[in-house]
Amino acid sequence: MRLAHGAAPAVAPAVPLTDLTAMTRDVREALDLAWEEVTASSAFVGGELVERFEEQWARYCGTAHVVGVANGTDAIELALRALGIGAGDEVVVPANSFIATAEGVVAAGATPRFVDVDPGTLLATASTIRPAIGPRTAAVIVVGLYGNVPVMDDILRLARETGLAVVEDAAQAHGSAWLGRKVGSLGVAGCFSFYPGKSLGAFGDGGAVVTDDAALAKRIRSLGNHGRPAGASHVHALLGRNSRLDALQAAVLSAKLPLLDEWNRARRAAVAAYRRLCGPGVRTVRVPHGAEPAWHQHVVRVEARDLVREGLARRGIATGVHYAVPCHHQEPYRRFAPDRLPVTEAAAAEILSLPLFPHLTQRQIDHVARSLDDVVRELGRRDG
Ligand SMILES: *Cc1c(COP(=O)(O)O)cnc(C)c1O
Repeated sequence: MRLAHGAAPAVAPAVPLTDLTAMTRDVREALDLAWEEVTASSAFVGGELVERFEEQWARYCGTAHVVGVANGTDAIELALRALGIGAGDEVVVPANSFIATAEGVVAAGATPRFVDVDPGTLLATASTIRPAIGPRTAAVIVVGLYGNVPVMDDILRLARETGLAVVEDAAQAHGSAWLGRKVGSLGVAGCFSFYPGKSLGAFGDGGAVVTDDAALAKRIRSLGNHGRPAGASHVHALLGRNSRLDALQAAVLSAKLPLLDEWNRARRAAVAAYRRLCGPGVRTVRVPHGAEPAWHQHVVRVEARDLVREGLARRGIATGVHYAVPCHHQEPYRRFAPDRLPVTEAAAAEILSLPLFPHLTQRQIDHVARSLDDVVRELGRRDG
């Protein structure tokens, strides 16, 4: 667009990919109180504030037990180890995920078996998982990527038939649900990350495993506390490690949790607005029937993705790519890779994450959607 000489363009708002500051502002007072409680208690790792958050998170997810750990990757590793999964075992993981899904498997001593995803949802399905199941397969990790929810009924049925444990990587799906049940509560264990940028984020690293299995929860807690049985200080009954949630993070999470549903509603509304506003050159991911996503990312698919990103950056719009290189193409994971995972590989070149956070304004959404359509159309004209 050429502007007449002297005409100033209407100032378009700069749009960041996310905005943690506004979320912090929402809970300012609760955070001040939390900080006072932590300093007064002098229990900085574990203790009452951690127990309180664990109870709150258990209630939110609808599970009997929650074990706070140091981060989401540890949650995956410790859940697998507590299930007795390790050397010699294979764990099926989607190649279209953050690297930590596979990292947790390798940290547990097991072997990741990467599988492809559905072209519509970009999530693993029972049909992409089934061919990877062999005599050594012990578990499948399902990932609620972007906050979307895989077709859990099919996957749970397949797991029952084949005797696999279903572990959920719910690190991007705080508050998402499948037929009314919270993601994380559907398999034997649900793994969460509270990294600051997640939909429920601490002021540092944090994570949790949710489960209905009391014995499993106990083993996870022991593994993350130097192998100590509950209440023991001098006995190390398991070959453990250190992976615990600290009180400050727990207090921050307790302060933020009451706003999670409201923030998720705002994220859903923003995604709905994007879907309404974006033209046909911008494809979105499909939502399975029965899934109730609490969107963490709004991922669209466009041709010439990197040029589109540049075009948006020139208009002050930050974007992300989740993820540009599929897990099975990352150097340390190539030895676990099957020949081709065509859907994941094709998607990696097209996916683009648009700004998404609870305080995104209608004006910002309009600006992003309009700019995206403009950029996509311009690039299309250049090609055609
Ligand atoms: C963030 C994330 C993790 C790992 O969480 P950390 O707390 O960073 O270790 C695992 N899986 C997925 C899908 C994630 O997005």
